[in-house]
Amino acid sequence: MFTSVIIPAAGAGERMGAAVSKQFLLLLGKPIIIHTLERFQMCGAVNEIIIAVQPSSRQQVESLIGEFHLSKATKIVEGGKRRQDSVSNALSHLHPQAEIVIVHDAVRPFIRQKVILDSIDKAISFSAAVVAVRVKDTIKVGTDEGRFERTLDRSVLWLAQTPQTFRRQVLIDAYEKASRERIDATDDASLVELLNIRPAIVEGSFENIKITTPDDLDFADVVARRFRD
Ligand code: C5P
Repeated sequence: MFTSVIIPAAGAGERMGAAVSKQFLLLLGKPIIIHTLERFQMCGAVNEIIIAVQPSSRQQVESLIGEFHLSKATKIVEGGKRRQDSVSNALSHLHPQAEIVIVHDAVRPFIRQKVILDSIDKAISFSAAVVAVRVKDTIKVGTDEGRFERTLDRSVLWLAQTPQTFRRQVLIDAYEKASRERIDATDDASLVELLNIRPAIVEGSFENIKITTPDDLDFADVVARRFRD
């Protein structure tokens, strides 16, 4: 089945406090986004990769794609104000034959081949699949007054990561609904859930971190040194 990967990479990286956006920071001498793209370039099930970037990064990404021979990264599109806008624009550039769409953050370089393949299989069976890990800590709901009001049942809680993988039409329908009803979401699956589809859980691992703040970069450096797949 023709499988497209959307990589939203248009974040400003304000939480990192660095001059360059986080996806371009180096990990073992190579930009984080290249580590991420290589995971999908090497995956036999992937046919095309669409990257959403800020206009100011387009040239840099184009030349990196050439330098690292990322032949599947055929489209660079403009990112938007929210992550959701970046994904939405990439969706409008899908290959006509695409049946499965994987969305994966540019700043999650430690994704294993088996997890990508599991998420594709589950999306084929269940229309949607989300890589996630079980919550280890106790999660409480806080109030504006600095108090806790209740504690959630940990046994049913998961931390959602990416990849999040969908049948093409399901994701397109979800984005159309979000746009019509002006719904904001921090991940793609939550929009699909609003169509009353329940995404399958793909159990992933804690090493698949989203590199967001400077301490993540220190941890990422440790993981990168031992990462073999
Ligand atoms: O901001 P957040 O940590 O959720 O970013 C996750 C991914 O979404 C990053 O790869 C970032 O570059 C991307 N993003 C985007 N467009 C935005 C905001 C974030 O493509 N407007």
